[in-house]
Amino acid sequence: MTVQLQFLLIQKTKNKMGLKILQKQVDNWIKQYGVRYFDPLTNMAQLSEEVGEVARIIARRYGEQSEKESDKEKNLSEELSDVLFVVFCIANQTNCDLESAFSDKLKLKSKRDRVRHINNPKLNKNK
Ligand SMILES: [Mg+2]
Repeated sequence: MTVQLQFLLIQKTKNKMGLKILQKQVDNWIKQYGVRYFDPLTNMAQLSEEVGEVARIIARRYGEQSEKESDKEKNLSEELSDVLFVVFCIANQTNCDLESAFSDKLKLKSKRDRVRHINNPKLNKNK
């Protein structure tokens, strides 16, 4: 897929990524089961904790660290979902519209990095 086509698809799918829906689902869950949001500093610590759990799996399963028997049952998708959940919590409690911001970020990166990676010889070893 050409870079221009990718950019057009990003433009066309603006506001159709479902992030707004996911933010609302997390907000509903917090209201129904969570009593209230943890304060932002607690959620920031939670986010660090969850990212650490992802890092542990990556280091042991895909990196060079030895994987313990107890690590083998850990689920990367589950831990990435934990990261997303806390990100949505932080976004909700700080009034961030991730759908809009993420769409804008993809547009910016598509424009700014249009040829950046294509011209990176480290990424094009077969050329
Ligand atoms: Mg976790």
